[in-house]
Amino acid sequence: MIDDQRAAGAVVGSAVGDALGAPFEFGPAGAFSSRFAVSAPGGEMCGGGGWDAGEATDDTQMAVMVAESLLERGGLDLPDIFARFQRWAASEPKDIGVQTEDVLTNGMPWDLASAVHFQVNLRAAGNGSLMRAATSAVYFARDGRQATMDAARRISALTHGDGAAWEGTVIFHELVRLALAGDDPLAALPEILTHVDAHHRERYEAVLAPTWHPDDATEFNGAVWPCLGSAVWAVRTTTSFEAAVRAAVDLGGDTDTVAAVTGGLAGAIHGLDAIPTRWTEPLHIPLPGHAGRVLRLPEMLDLTRRLTA
Ligand SMILES: [Mg+2]
Repeated sequence: MIDDQRAAGAVVGSAVGDALGAPFEFGPAGAFSSRFAVSAPGGEMCGGGGWDAGEATDDTQMAVMVAESLLERGGLDLPDIFARFQRWAASEPKDIGVQTEDVLTNGMPWDLASAVHFQVNLRAAGNGSLMRAATSAVYFARDGRQATMDAARRISALTHGDGAAWEGTVIFHELVRLALAGDDPLAALPEILTHVDAHHRERYEAVLAPTWHPDDATEFNGAVWPCLGSAVWAVRTTTSFEAAVRAAVDLGGDTDTVAAVTGGLAGAIHGLDAIPTRWTEPLHIPLPGHAGRVLRLPEMLDLTRRLTA
Protein backbone atom coordinates (compact mmCIF):
# COMPACT_ATOMS: atom_id res chain seq x y z
CA MET A 1 0.00 0.00 0.00
CA ILE A 2 1.26 3.45 -0.95
CA ASP A 3 0.59 6.24 1.53
CA ASP A 4 -0.67 9.19 -0.55
CA GLN A 5 0.40 11.78 2.02
CA ARG A 6 3.92 10.42 1.93
CA ALA A 7 3.98 10.14 -1.87
CA ALA A 8 2.99 13.81 -2.12
CA GLY A 9 5.55 14.57 0.57
CA ALA A 10 8.30 12.98 -1.51
CA VAL A 11 7.47 14.83 -4.74
CA VAL A 12 6.66 18.21 -3.19
CA GLY A 13 9.38 17.87 -0.56
CA SER A 14 12.04 17.38 -3.19
CA ALA A 15 10.85 20.44 -5.13
CA VAL A 16 10.73 22.54 -1.95
CA GLY A 17 14.28 21.52 -1.01
CA ASP A 18 15.47 22.37 -4.51
CA ALA A 19 13.88 25.84 -4.44
CA LEU A 20 15.05 26.53 -0.89
CA GLY A 21 18.63 25.55 -1.65
CA ALA A 22 19.00 27.16 -5.07
CA PRO A 23 19.99 30.68 -3.92
CA PHE A 24 22.72 29.19 -1.69
CA GLU A 25 24.39 27.02 -4.34
CA PHE A 26 28.20 26.99 -4.04
CA GLY A 27 27.96 29.07 -0.87
CA PRO A 28 29.65 28.34 2.45
CA ALA A 29 28.35 26.08 5.19
CA GLY A 30 26.06 27.82 7.66
CA ALA A 31 24.91 30.55 5.25
CA PHE A 32 21.26 29.56 5.52
CA SER A 33 20.95 29.47 9.32
CA SER A 34 22.95 32.65 9.76
CA ARG A 35 20.41 34.42 7.55
CA PHE A 36 17.24 32.66 8.75
CA ALA A 37 17.10 31.82 12.45
CA VAL A 38 14.97 28.88 13.53
CA SER A 39 13.36 31.07 16.18
CA ALA A 40 12.02 33.57 13.63
CA PRO A 41 10.68 31.51 10.73
CA GLY A 42 9.67 33.19 7.51
CA GLY A 43 11.17 34.50 4.32
CA GLU A 44 13.42 31.50 3.73
CA MET A 45 12.23 31.15 0.12
CA CYS A 46 14.32 34.19 -0.61
CA GLY A 47 15.46 33.81 -4.21
CA GLY A 48 18.83 35.06 -5.41
CA GLY A 49 21.65 33.88 -7.62
CA GLY A 50 19.38 34.23 -10.65
CA TRP A 51 16.45 32.41 -9.02
CA ASP A 52 13.10 33.91 -8.09
CA ALA A 53 11.77 33.24 -4.61
CA GLY A 54 10.31 29.72 -4.63
CA GLU A 55 11.62 28.86 -8.10
CA ALA A 56 12.69 25.24 -8.51
CA THR A 57 15.67 24.34 -10.68
CA ASP A 58 16.73 21.62 -13.11
CA ASP A 59 16.43 18.94 -10.40
CA THR A 60 12.66 19.34 -10.20
CA GLN A 61 12.21 20.20 -13.86
CA MET A 62 13.78 16.88 -14.84
CA ALA A 63 11.75 15.00 -12.21
CA VAL A 64 8.56 16.45 -13.71
CA MET A 65 9.65 15.42 -17.21
CA VAL A 66 10.27 11.85 -16.02
CA ALA A 67 6.85 11.82 -14.33
CA GLU A 68 5.02 13.08 -17.40
CA SER A 69 6.76 10.53 -19.61
CA LEU A 70 5.83 7.67 -17.25
CA LEU A 71 2.21 8.84 -17.19
CA GLU A 72 1.81 9.60 -20.88
CA ARG A 73 3.65 6.47 -22.06
CA GLY A 74 2.01 4.23 -19.47
CA GLY A 75 5.37 3.06 -18.11
CA LEU A 76 9.08 3.24 -18.67
CA ASP A 77 9.89 4.49 -22.17
CA LEU A 78 13.58 5.38 -22.02
CA PRO A 79 13.89 6.92 -25.52
CA ASP A 80 10.89 9.13 -24.70
CA ILE A 81 12.43 10.38 -21.44
CA PHE A 82 15.70 11.06 -23.24
CA ALA A 83 13.91 12.99 -25.99
CA ARG A 84 12.07 15.10 -23.40
CA PHE A 85 15.39 15.86 -21.66
CA GLN A 86 16.93 16.84 -24.99
CA ARG A 87 14.08 19.19 -25.87
CA TRP A 88 14.41 20.81 -22.46
CA ALA A 89 18.22 21.06 -22.69
CA ALA A 90 17.85 22.81 -26.05
CA SER A 91 15.52 25.41 -24.49
CA GLU A 92 18.20 27.07 -22.40
CA PRO A 93 17.17 26.13 -18.87
CA LYS A 94 18.70 28.48 -16.28
CA ASP A 95 20.73 25.59 -14.90
CA ILE A 96 21.80 22.21 -16.24
CA GLY A 97 24.50 19.89 -14.98
CA VAL A 98 27.74 19.91 -16.98
CA GLN A 99 27.66 16.14 -17.40
CA THR A 100 23.95 16.04 -18.21
CA GLU A 101 24.26 18.79 -20.80
CA ASP A 102 27.13 17.04 -22.53
CA VAL A 103 25.27 13.73 -22.73
CA LEU A 104 22.07 15.35 -24.01
CA THR A 105 23.84 17.36 -26.70
CA ASN A 106 26.67 15.06 -27.87
CA GLY A 107 24.64 13.79 -30.82
CA MET A 108 24.72 10.15 -29.77
CA PRO A 109 21.57 8.01 -29.58
CA TRP A 110 19.83 7.64 -26.22
CA ASP A 111 21.29 4.21 -25.45
CA LEU A 112 24.90 5.22 -26.13
CA ALA A 113 25.17 8.88 -25.14
CA SER A 114 26.02 8.49 -21.45
CA ALA A 115 28.30 5.49 -21.99
CA VAL A 116 30.30 7.37 -24.61
CA HIS A 117 30.56 10.38 -22.31
CA PHE A 118 31.86 8.13 -19.50
CA GLN A 119 34.42 6.45 -21.79
CA VAL A 120 35.79 9.80 -22.86
CA ASN A 121 35.70 11.62 -19.51
CA LEU A 122 36.15 8.68 -17.13
CA ARG A 123 34.27 10.60 -14.43
CA ALA A 124 30.49 10.54 -14.40
CA ALA A 125 29.51 10.06 -10.77
CA GLY A 126 27.77 13.40 -10.32
CA ASN A 127 24.51 13.68 -8.40
CA GLY A 128 22.57 14.67 -11.54
CA SER A 129 20.52 11.50 -11.82
CA LEU A 130 19.94 11.15 -8.06
CA MET A 131 18.55 14.69 -7.92
CA ARG A 132 15.59 13.97 -10.20
CA ALA A 133 14.52 10.60 -8.73
CA ALA A 134 11.57 11.50 -6.48
CA THR A 135 8.85 11.07 -9.10
CA SER A 136 10.09 7.76 -10.49
CA ALA A 137 10.62 6.46 -6.94
CA VAL A 138 6.96 7.19 -6.20
CA TYR A 139 5.74 5.72 -9.48
CA PHE A 140 7.58 2.39 -9.19
CA ALA A 141 7.05 1.93 -5.45
CA ARG A 142 3.90 -0.18 -5.93
CA ASP A 143 5.80 -2.60 -8.16
CA GLY A 144 8.14 -3.70 -5.39
CA ARG A 145 11.86 -3.70 -4.81
CA GLN A 146 13.13 -5.36 -7.96
CA ALA A 147 11.12 -3.18 -10.35
CA THR A 148 12.03 -0.10 -8.31
CA MET A 149 15.74 -0.80 -8.42
CA ASP A 150 15.72 -1.80 -12.09
CA ALA A 151 13.89 1.37 -13.13
CA ALA A 152 16.20 3.53 -11.02
CA ARG A 153 19.28 2.11 -12.73
CA ARG A 154 17.88 2.53 -16.22
CA ILE A 155 16.63 6.09 -15.78
CA SER A 156 19.92 7.08 -14.15
CA ALA A 157 21.89 5.52 -17.01
CA LEU A 158 20.20 7.83 -19.53
CA THR A 159 22.53 10.65 -18.47
CA HIS A 160 25.12 9.01 -16.23
CA GLY A 161 27.47 6.30 -17.50
CA ASP A 162 29.07 5.59 -14.12
CA GLY A 163 27.46 2.76 -12.17
CA ALA A 164 28.13 4.71 -8.97
CA ALA A 165 25.43 7.19 -10.03
CA TRP A 166 23.04 4.32 -10.80
CA GLU A 167 23.53 2.69 -7.41
CA GLY A 168 23.01 5.94 -5.51
CA THR A 169 19.76 6.42 -7.37
CA VAL A 170 18.81 2.81 -6.64
CA ILE A 171 19.30 3.33 -2.90
CA PHE A 172 17.22 6.52 -2.94
CA HIS A 173 14.39 4.81 -4.84
CA GLU A 174 14.33 1.95 -2.36
CA LEU A 175 14.42 4.28 0.67
CA VAL A 176 11.40 6.14 -0.71
CA ARG A 177 9.57 2.91 -1.52
CA LEU A 178 9.98 1.68 2.04
CA ALA A 179 8.89 5.03 3.50
CA LEU A 180 5.74 5.05 1.35
CA ALA A 181 4.93 1.59 2.68
CA GLY A 182 5.18 2.91 6.24
CA ASP A 183 8.44 1.13 7.00
CA ASP A 184 11.52 2.73 8.57
CA PRO A 185 13.80 3.21 5.55
CA LEU A 186 16.95 4.11 7.49
CA ALA A 187 16.69 0.98 9.59
CA ALA A 188 16.61 -0.99 6.34
CA LEU A 189 19.84 0.49 4.97
CA PRO A 190 22.06 -2.52 5.80
CA GLU A 191 19.62 -4.76 3.95
CA ILE A 192 19.27 -2.32 1.03
CA LEU A 193 23.05 -2.28 0.67
CA THR A 194 23.10 -6.03 0.03
CA HIS A 195 21.20 -5.31 -3.20
CA VAL A 196 23.67 -2.68 -4.37
CA ASP A 197 26.15 -3.68 -7.07
CA ALA A 198 29.17 -5.20 -5.33
CA HIS A 199 31.61 -2.87 -7.10
CA HIS A 200 29.97 0.13 -5.49
CA ARG A 201 28.77 -1.23 -2.17
CA GLU A 202 31.75 -0.31 -0.03
CA ARG A 203 31.65 3.40 -0.79
CA TYR A 204 27.94 3.54 -0.06
CA GLU A 205 28.40 1.58 3.16
CA ALA A 206 30.85 4.29 4.20
CA VAL A 207 28.70 7.36 3.50
CA LEU A 208 25.50 5.75 4.79
CA ALA A 209 26.97 4.53 8.07
CA PRO A 210 25.28 6.01 11.17
CA THR A 211 28.60 7.50 12.26
CA TRP A 212 29.29 9.27 8.94
CA HIS A 213 29.15 13.08 8.91
CA PRO A 214 29.21 15.34 5.83
CA ASP A 215 32.57 16.68 7.06
CA ASP A 216 33.94 13.19 6.39
CA ALA A 217 33.20 13.52 2.66
CA THR A 218 36.17 12.93 0.37
CA GLU A 219 34.55 14.74 -2.60
CA PHE A 220 32.51 17.90 -3.17
CA ASN A 221 28.83 17.16 -2.49
CA GLY A 222 28.05 17.50 -6.21
CA ALA A 223 29.29 13.90 -6.38
CA VAL A 224 26.71 11.20 -5.86
CA TRP A 225 28.19 9.56 -2.71
CA PRO A 226 28.41 12.55 -0.35
CA CYS A 227 25.16 13.91 -1.79
CA LEU A 228 23.21 10.81 -0.81
CA GLY A 229 25.19 10.45 2.41
CA SER A 230 24.43 14.05 3.37
CA ALA A 231 20.72 13.62 2.65
CA VAL A 232 20.54 10.50 4.80
CA TRP A 233 22.56 12.24 7.52
CA ALA A 234 20.19 15.24 7.45
CA VAL A 235 17.15 12.99 7.82
CA ARG A 236 18.76 10.75 10.44
CA THR A 237 19.86 13.58 12.72
CA THR A 238 16.59 15.53 12.68
CA THR A 239 12.96 14.85 13.58
CA SER A 240 11.07 17.08 11.14
CA PHE A 241 10.95 17.88 7.44
CA GLU A 242 11.87 21.48 8.14
CA ALA A 243 14.91 20.66 10.25
CA ALA A 244 16.18 18.07 7.76
CA VAL A 245 16.02 20.44 4.80
CA ARG A 246 17.53 23.31 6.80
CA ALA A 247 20.43 21.05 7.75
CA ALA A 248 20.92 20.10 4.10
CA VAL A 249 21.00 23.67 2.79
CA ASP A 250 23.30 24.64 5.64
CA LEU A 251 25.95 22.22 4.39
CA GLY A 252 26.73 24.62 1.54
CA GLY A 253 28.07 23.48 -1.82
CA ASP A 254 25.53 21.92 -4.17
CA THR A 255 22.73 23.09 -1.92
CA ASP A 256 19.79 22.79 -4.31
CA THR A 257 20.49 19.16 -5.11
CA VAL A 258 21.49 18.03 -1.61
CA ALA A 259 18.30 19.69 -0.32
CA ALA A 260 16.21 18.21 -3.15
CA VAL A 261 17.38 14.70 -2.27
CA THR A 262 16.93 15.40 1.43
CA GLY A 263 13.49 16.90 0.86
CA GLY A 264 12.38 13.91 -1.18
CA LEU A 265 13.39 11.48 1.54
CA ALA A 266 12.20 13.64 4.44
CA GLY A 267 8.90 14.26 2.66
CA ALA A 268 8.41 10.52 2.11
CA ILE A 269 8.98 9.92 5.81
CA HIS A 270 7.18 12.88 7.39
CA GLY A 271 4.45 13.39 4.77
CA LEU A 272 3.03 16.39 2.94
CA ASP A 273 1.51 17.89 6.10
CA ALA A 274 4.99 18.29 7.58
CA ILE A 275 6.10 20.65 4.80
CA PRO A 276 5.61 24.27 5.88
CA THR A 277 2.99 26.08 3.79
CA ARG A 278 5.20 29.16 3.80
CA TRP A 279 7.53 27.03 1.66
CA THR A 280 4.91 25.43 -0.62
CA GLU A 281 3.05 28.68 -1.34
CA PRO A 282 5.82 30.41 -3.32
CA LEU A 283 6.97 27.11 -4.89
CA HIS A 284 6.84 27.11 -8.67
CA ILE A 285 8.47 25.00 -11.34
CA PRO A 286 8.96 26.59 -14.77
CA LEU A 287 9.41 24.07 -17.57
CA PRO A 288 11.68 25.38 -20.33
CA GLY A 289 10.74 23.87 -23.70
CA HIS A 290 7.12 23.38 -22.61
CA ALA A 291 5.42 26.49 -24.02
CA GLY A 292 5.80 28.55 -20.89
CA ARG A 293 4.21 26.07 -18.50
CA VAL A 294 4.78 26.69 -14.80
CA LEU A 295 3.71 24.11 -12.21
CA ARG A 296 2.68 25.10 -8.70
CA LEU A 297 1.53 23.11 -5.68
CA PRO A 298 -1.88 22.07 -7.14
CA GLU A 299 -0.24 20.80 -10.32
CA MET A 300 2.43 18.93 -8.33
CA LEU A 301 -0.25 17.30 -6.17
CA ASP A 302 -2.20 16.33 -9.28
CA LEU A 303 0.94 14.86 -10.79
CA THR A 304 1.57 12.82 -7.64
CA ARG A 305 -2.03 11.57 -7.58
CA ARG A 306 -1.61 10.29 -11.10
CA LEU A 307 1.76 8.68 -10.30
CA THR A 308 0.15 6.62 -7.54
CA ALA A 309 -3.22 5.98 -9.21
MG1 LIG B 1 19.64 22.37 -9.70
